[in-house]
Formats: sequence, structure tokens, C-alpha cells
Amino acid sequence: MTFFALDPLDGNAPTDPLTGLGNAQQLQRSVLALAAERAADPAPFTIGLANLDGFKPINDLFGREAGDRILCQVAHRLTACVPEGAAVMRTASDEFAIVLPLVFERNGAEKIGQMLREALSAPVDLGDRTVRLSASFGFAVYPFAGDTFENLLKNADTALYRSKRRGRGQVTVYSHEIAQEMKRATQLEQALRNAIIADEIDVHFQPIVDLRTDSVVGFEALARWCDADLGYVSPALFVPLAEERGFIDPLSEMLLRKAAQAALSWPKELFLSFNLSSAQLMDPATSGRLLAIINQVGLDPRRLELEITETAVMADADVAQKIVADLRAAGVRVSLDDFGTGQSSLGRLRDFSFDKVKIDRAFVSRIAADRASEHIVRAIVSMCEGLELEVVAEGIEEFSEAVKLKALGCGMGQGYFYGKPADAIATMRYLAGRHRVNALR
Ligand code: C2E
Ligand code: MG
Ligand code: MG
Repeated sequence: MTFFALDPLDGNAPTDPLTGLGNAQQLQRSVLALAAERAADPAPFTIGLANLDGFKPINDLFGREAGDRILCQVAHRLTACVPEGAAVMRTASDEFAIVLPLVFERNGAEKIGQMLREALSAPVDLGDRTVRLSASFGFAVYPFAGDTFENLLKNADTALYRSKRRGRGQVTVYSHEIAQEMKRATQLEQALRNAIIADEIDVHFQPIVDLRTDSVVGFEALARWCDADLGYVSPALFVPLAEERGFIDPLSEMLLRKAAQAALSWPKELFLSFNLSSAQLMDPATSGRLLAIINQVGLDPRRLELEITETAVMADADVAQKIVADLRAAGVRVSLDDFGTGQSSLGRLRDFSFDKVKIDRAFVSRIAADRASEHIVRAIVSMCEGLELEVVAEGIEEFSEAVKLKALGCGMGQGYFYGKPADAIATMRYLAGRHRVNALR
């Protein structure tokens, strides 16, 4: 047992002046006291951390006084909801801790987390308006998740971090699987950082064709990484990791530079389509950075298209809108990627100025067999026609899918049927081959 004895000053417990709850120091004291109490007969107990989602923007928008009222309401609700014998503290500006002496295992912690989450999701009355907010939770059960105060708190924090990563209003109880997953993510992060420095991340290109003529009109750039130890790592894994760990900008800039350089060797009428990540759409400096790169490389901005997803646009719509407007003003075209799978809102198509919509593979892969998918694609195509947007169907693998899409009036397509992503040299060969085919027609 590595816990220390109780602080003799416990009589005047440190409190948070705003809410009247105990503060971070008090959390430590409570946990130490509980551990000392149980030293003879070790029985588990649980600590939880609750962090409000998006509190800062609310505070900025409604002012500090409103923010304080919200925090007091949260304190009040948590105190009212926790089971008897439990204690609530405010440990940081919008973070609360809960000590649960009678919660012994994961299920119990999860249930309490869900109950507290419900309690905090009810609207908060600010007099002239009401606001809604949610909170994320992380729990750690003593002694499995740590037998020192520091470890227990650190692991509750890890669980909270995981909840935050999964979106708003999530509840996570620390477990060995989570520990393993965090460890793997950190190893991957290190390998990726090294790979970027060693210039080991490559770009491959997948053709996008005009479905009416079957001719190539452009290529989508897709990041590729094959690590000596880890093997092939999907961009769907390492791109979000780079975003989360804060180095998406250097990664994306390196990829764009490589992709733009490769595009210089293609026929001038072909465009380069490049994926932007959500973090980049939250940073107002993005448009300037991207334009500087293609300018340096010498690629005409009118040959560049940027693919963004609905989810990315949603994170900070105002900034995203400004970035899209700046890029379009410079001649870059913008397409909405994976359309139909995110938290789709058709309003987004009206509010944003896009040039193109890419229908997600989920609809295309079922188009030949499934009537519902066919109707959805038909509706998207006709809506885009009305909005004067171009349409690309993603993930065409079969001839029958291509035929169906053509019949539905879809203008462009992309998928293994037309070509798998390939490196810059193979792409040049592909273009040379296509050129010969076209010349023979
Ligand atoms: P995405 O932008 O929707 O890219 C299309 C994905 O579908 C690619 O997966 C592509 O290889 C795959 N695909 C294309 N045709 C077919 C097909 O016929 N069948 C099947 N089963 N799959 C097909 P990939 O390369 O693994 O990329 C996954 C995602 O990672 C991309 O989805 C994109 O969101 C992201 N990504 C890739 N490269 C980059 C990059 O350079 N920057 C950023 N921000 N994201 C990237
Ligand atoms: Mg894409
Ligand atoms: Mg896509």
C-alpha cells in the first residue's frame, strides 16, 4: 500500500469559493482518507471525473456570470444525484470529481456515470435564456486502476480523455484494454512522427473518371504509410491520430507538396483532389498555407480540388466557411466527401458553396442489389443537378455498378473498377496506357 496517512489539517477542508464544493486538494484528502480507512480490509472504491463539453465557447458567448451560474447548477445537480456517502469536488474550471466509496466495480461506475450524464443534460435556466450542455466522464476503480492517488487520478483522467475523444456525453471506466489501446496509440504516434521526419509517408493516386466517356478527369491523392515494424497502416487510422496529437499540419503539407509535384507531370486538364482533415478546417491559417504550397510548387490553383467531410465542416462552421470561401476565391474547387454518411444536413449544401459532392461508397456498393440505395443515389444526383453541383460516385467496384450509375445520370466515378490507388510512377504509366486506349478509339 503506497497511500500516505491523512493530512492533520482536515478540519478546515479546502473549498472552491464559487460552488462551495471541495477543491482538488480536498479530492486528494478524501481519497487518501478512504484508502487509509480501508487499509486493514482492502475494498475497492471509485473516483470519477466529469468535464463539461464545450464549456469555453458557452462562457465566451454568454459571459462569465452566466458561466458561473452554469457551474453552480452543475455542482448542485451532481451533489443531488450522487449516492449517499459520495462526495463531489470542483477540481478545475469546468471539471468536477466524484468520490464513490460504495462503487466497487465497472458496471456500478458506468451506471452512476449514465445517471449523472442524464442529470447534466437537462437545460440550465439562465433567467433570460436556457442553455443545454453535456459532460464527459472518466472513472477509475481503486485499486485495479491504481493504488496511489496519483495513478488513480491519472487513469481516471485517461478514461475521461477517451470519453472526450469518442465525442460528447460519453462515459468511460478505465480498464486494461484502454491502457493497452492508449499504449498502442502512443507507439503509433512515435513511429508516425519518425516516419514524417524520415520522409517515409508517400502519396498514391486513384483515378476519377467521367462516366459518360470513361476518360480520366483527375486523381484523388491518398496518403500511404508502410512502417518497417508495423507494416501497412491505414490513413483512416494515422490521419486522425496526427490530428489528435497536433501534427496534422506538417503531415498534410508534406503530402500536398508531394501530390502537387506529381500532378505537374500529368496532362494539364487533369485535376488533383486532396483530402483535408477536420482539424485543418478549424484553423483560419489553413487556406493561406495550402495556397502558398501549391504556389511554390507551381500548380495552378484551378487544378486543385479539396475534399472535406460534413463532420469536419460541423466542428466550427464559421471558420470552415471562411476557409472554403478563401480557397474558392483563389480558384481552388471544393468537394464534399463521403456524402450521406456523416451527420448530413442538406442545409449545409445551401449554406456552403461547394463545387462537387462525392457520394459515399456505402450507397454505391449496394446500388445494383438494393432498391433503397438506388433511390438515394437517384435523389442525390437530381438534387445536385438542381444545385449545379458535380457528382462523383465513390467505390465503384463492378461493371454493373458503373452501368447503373451512368443510367442514373451520375457524372463521375471512382473505384477499383477504374483503378486502385497507385504511386506516382505507376500513375504515369496508367495515364500513358489510357492515352493509347483513347488514341485507338
Ligand atoms: P476517402 O477520402 O473517402 O478516400 C476513399 C477511400 O476509399 C480510400 O481509402 C480508397 O483507397 C478507398 N477506395 C477507393 N475505391 C474503392 C473501392 O472501389 N472499393 C473499396 N473497398 N475502397 C475503395 P484509403 O486510402 O484507405 O483512405 C481512407 C481515408 O483516409 C480517406 O477516405 C480519407 O478520409 C483519409 N485520407 C487518406 N489520405 C488522406 C490525406 O492525405 N489527408 C487526409 N486528411 N485524409 C486522408
Ligand atoms: Mg476523399
Ligand atoms: Mg470519400
